[in-house]
Amino acid sequence: MPFKIAVVGIGKIAIDQHLPCIAKNKNFQLVAGVSRHATLDYVPCFDSLSALIKSKIKIDAVALCTPPSVRLAMAREALDAGYNVLIEKPPTPTIGEMVSMIDYTKKKKRVLYATWHSRYNRSVDEAKKRLKGKHVNFMRITWKEDVNKWHPGQNWIAEPGGFGVFDPGINALSVVTKILPDPIYVESSRIEVPENWSTPIGADIKFKRGDGKPVDMSASFDWRQRGEQIWDIKLATADGMKMKLSKGGTVLHVNGKLIMEAPMEEYQMIYKKFAKLLKAKKSETDYSPLQLECDAFMLAKPVVVGKFEWD
Ligand code: NAP
Repeated sequence: MPFKIAVVGIGKIAIDQHLPCIAKNKNFQLVAGVSRHATLDYVPCFDSLSALIKSKIKIDAVALCTPPSVRLAMAREALDAGYNVLIEKPPTPTIGEMVSMIDYTKKKKRVLYATWHSRYNRSVDEAKKRLKGKHVNFMRITWKEDVNKWHPGQNWIAEPGGFGVFDPGINALSVVTKILPDPIYVESSRIEVPENWSTPIGADIKFKRGDGKPVDMSASFDWRQRGEQIWDIKLATADGMKMKLSKGGTVLHVNGKLIMEAPMEEYQMIYKKFAKLLKAKKSETDYSPLQLECDAFMLAKPVVVGKFEWD
């Protein structure tokens, strides 16, 4: 029997990825949608999670595709109703809310799956394998994209808890926290905040290792990019291996040689994994990418830049 699932928040990512991937996965059956604005013509839609719960439609799980700032209350309401919960990235606006969501899920004996879509690339798995046991002493993350293209008119990204450029930046951090053999920590950061925003539009972060050994590791996030969109991670190890993950983690070069160019299957893999977790009644709630971003905010030197205007 497929898991009966409802999608909550019918915005860009629900339409681009969640709904098509659920439709193609035999382990799931979409039985409802929750949206304050949109409707789906093939399943019943409700204007709130409470209305869905009151309808008594049988639901095994919900996919929360809303912005992070409203997820904790939604997750708790869903868990109270006996549903299992999948959440988009970034999981919550703060570590406090994430820890609370994890604890609440345990108390309710349900499954919580905090997804990180950029982790689901075969090139990322290959990079992890090749870095195992090595000493990484160089990392350069360059994550530069045009906010107008990827978040058209989404004003929530500029509000507190909306993450700003840390919303895409966390994708890069989700990759490095998966592939690096040792954890990294934030040493310092500089964030650029438009005068009409509460969140950064640009950020430069320096990282360090826990053992104090000298490293050159940094990330540069920018949402003002025009033309070519850049999602690159360059790494080097003490024994001379040079690695480059490009195009968001789908293309892997090692020592200048193309190793892998894998097709983008991130959300297909997410639903494959969710089915596994539901069958095993196991949660997956790694929040190390969120921890790094919270630390980058905590240690940031903020700089106010000019007003941002949508195209
Ligand atoms: P979006 O287009 O703004 O969609 C979010 C939806 O959530 C809205 O359409 C709205 O749905 C609902 N929503 C917004 N504010 C709400 C509130 N205060 N209370 C309840 N519901 C609310 O944003 P998105 O791009 O889909 O992003 C959603 C999440 O997916 C973010 O965490 C983002 O990082 C992640 N994500 C986005 C992309 C991308 O390419 N955009 C890629 C990967 C992951 P209704 O109007 O239907 O209620």
